[in-house]
Amino acid sequence: MGILTGKVALVTGGGRGIGRAIALALAEAGAAVAITGRDAARLDATRAELAGHGVAALALPCDVADSAAVGRAFAEARAQLGPISILVNNAGITASVKFAEMDDATWDRIMRVNAAGPFYCCRAAVPDMIAGGWGRIINIASYAGLSGIAYSSAYSASKHALIGLTRSLALELGRAGVRANAICPGWVETDMVHDAVANIVAKTGRAEADARASMLALAGQQRMIAPEEVAAVALRLAGPEGDAVNGQALTIE
Ligand code: NAP
Repeated sequence: MGILTGKVALVTGGGRGIGRAIALALAEAGAAVAITGRDAARLDATRAELAGHGVAALALPCDVADSAAVGRAFAEARAQLGPISILVNNAGITASVKFAEMDDATWDRIMRVNAAGPFYCCRAAVPDMIAGGWGRIINIASYAGLSGIAYSSAYSASKHALIGLTRSLALELGRAGVRANAICPGWVETDMVHDAVANIVAKTGRAEADARASMLALAGQQRMIAPEEVAAVALRLAGPEGDAVNGQALTIE
């Protein structure tokens, strides 16, 4: 028996990076876990890792920005695993763009994936949580949700929106036994960071080590965070220790 035995979790973007680490931590704690994302092969590989913890595991290819597809994925997860009690809104994208050169498509896509996607998922999961009198919503926002970021205006705006959604749900659903919190990492060693480093190297001609050092210049711990460290915080929010924590935006940087 783990601390999450009997719970059903859905992690968006659970095939790789931070989402994969969180899905594995929840499975290790005993939860049945559904993961979503667009890359079916990668999802399937992670699903096999999850099942290795002896829990029910489901891979559901789904673009989180597609409202109807999200509805279908939740219906499938519910049918196969049971009512969703833990939702981790992790799927996210970014783009480094000068504000004056931001086009409509880039702005819209980032807002749809990072802000509308979590809205679709929360709307799909909350009725199960209210009916069960227990729920955990964990939104993977960012330090960029608490502070502006040059060349990342759409990303920062989308993460501010996600934190606003988190705080509103915490107030609206607290009495129903549902907790909503956001995790706000600085730099985490995933594909997203590898892309950001490559972008700086390509645009400035700097060495990779210099690019990394410049990214970490303002980071509290002056280091990249591991996905497993974010997962450890998500696990605490999902488990009994998270009972009293609601409406918070927890920084890890
Ligand atoms: P990543 O390695 O690039 O992974 C992104 C994840 O999001 C993948 O699993 C991807 O799955 C999924 N995803 C992207 N677009 C999607 C869509 N339209 N529909 C469904 N899934 C989608 O990045 P990561 O670092 O793990 O990022 C995870 C979250 O942490 C993001 O919300 C990000 O903003 C946040 N974050 C990251 C950092 C960092 O430094 N890495 C810092 C702060 C916050 P598919 O490719 O299969 O669709």
